[in-house]
Amino acid sequence: MGSNAPACDSAFVGRKVLIEDGFKEAAILVKDGVIQAVVAVSDVPQGVPIENAGDLVVIPGLVDCHVHVNEPGRTEWEGFVTATKAAAAGGVTTIVDMPLNCIPVTTTLDALKEKLKAIEGLLNVDCAFWGGVVPGNHAELEKMVAHGVVGFKCFLIHSGIDDFPNATEFDLRKAMPELARLGVPLLVHAEIECSHEDESQEHPGEWLKEEPRSYAAFLESRPRRWENEAVKLVSLLCEEFKCRTHIVHLSSSDALSIVKEAKGKQLPFTAETCPHYLTFASEEIPDGDTRFKCAPPIRERENSEKLWQALKDGTIDFVVSDHSPCTPELKLMKEGDFDKAWGGIASLQFGLPAVWTFAKKKGHKLEEVVTWMSEKTAKFAGLYGAKGKIAPGFDADIVMLDPEETFVVEKKNVQHKHKETPHEGREFNGVVKRTYVRGTKVYDQGNFTKEGHGKKILSGRLDRQKAVAGNSR
Ligand SMILES: [Zn+2]
Repeated sequence: MGSNAPACDSAFVGRKVLIEDGFKEAAILVKDGVIQAVVAVSDVPQGVPIENAGDLVVIPGLVDCHVHVNEPGRTEWEGFVTATKAAAAGGVTTIVDMPLNCIPVTTTLDALKEKLKAIEGLLNVDCAFWGGVVPGNHAELEKMVAHGVVGFKCFLIHSGIDDFPNATEFDLRKAMPELARLGVPLLVHAEIECSHEDESQEHPGEWLKEEPRSYAAFLESRPRRWENEAVKLVSLLCEEFKCRTHIVHLSSSDALSIVKEAKGKQLPFTAETCPHYLTFASEEIPDGDTRFKCAPPIRERENSEKLWQALKDGTIDFVVSDHSPCTPELKLMKEGDFDKAWGGIASLQFGLPAVWTFAKKKGHKLEEVVTWMSEKTAKFAGLYGAKGKIAPGFDADIVMLDPEETFVVEKKNVQHKHKETPHEGREFNGVVKRTYVRGTKVYDQGNFTKEGHGKKILSGRLDRQKAVAGNSR
């Protein structure tokens, strides 16, 4: 903290501001939405307007790098206005949008341009974009990076959307050297449909066909070995091509040893998990409650405990929502059919309180949660340097939070387009009071104070060097 304060047009002051060495009393000096300096409160220049957090904790806004917004094309599932409001209300100041389930899917430069045009003026928080790798779109990858996507997602199993076909090993062998050259990560939905070693056993989906309301049957229909096989395959390809490779929404704790092994070899290999895998357990999911359906599935409590352990020891790098809602009709709530219902969990607004509530019980500090959900996700998406930290040169994306106050998730406070979420009725610690995007207050205790302030992040990977450094362990 220095006494020669730089020029600024606003200041954020609090007794518990998360800076380099923990929570400290400090003032954040901001000019044109960018943090200029973090100084002692007494060093705030005279006459500068002050936002005072008082006793609330001040943390960098979260960066949720796994969100399915679905606009254009399936805006009735979730659109950018509602998704980014939910983000702001949940302390998330940057999202990275997935290349599906919008129409057209974001697998070509033209489709990317169409999305960018469609969402003009709709954003309430900042938004970057992933492209998609599908069979045959090899020639589009470099063009999309040049236009600003921060990396690419692919599936190794049916994506749920017919116009986003899954990649095979053949397709990955074409894409991965190209992505390695471009310096962007490949995000992999790691499930491969494979039959049982014992051929006399029935296909894992047979029981679910007979009892579609049974969660146990659904769980059995997407076994751990599908994930394990897929993680193994892409870890070998990562080793071969040295392409940055990332496992999205890891659920099977059996695959952790493969992730660990790849990291041990210093490969550019990372993994994420989600609040639902960390905070729910299959044993407690009621039959017929399709709000819990996602792929890979939420597994046993014992599995969840291992994911927490992996988060603690760094095998899992960070936590993202994988917010993937649809219309209530497609969730087939009345039928409770786990076989036919859309798979995807609505949770963007509740990621922080859900993870914080459980992390706290396990003895983790809020600083760790912020690292998992802001700093590391920003680094992964190449946004670090602008996002993910309260420090000079970073955007003034700031959240004021009461970490102890509790609230119950009720339909009336859900900002997602649709109110169905498996988190409904849960009591969480951590109430987001105010959210600022680049110095501007966009959310204040239930109210949206500046709509349309979010911007598209298309500057490409803002700081390649730092992003790469941040990825190595
Ligand atoms: Zn997803």
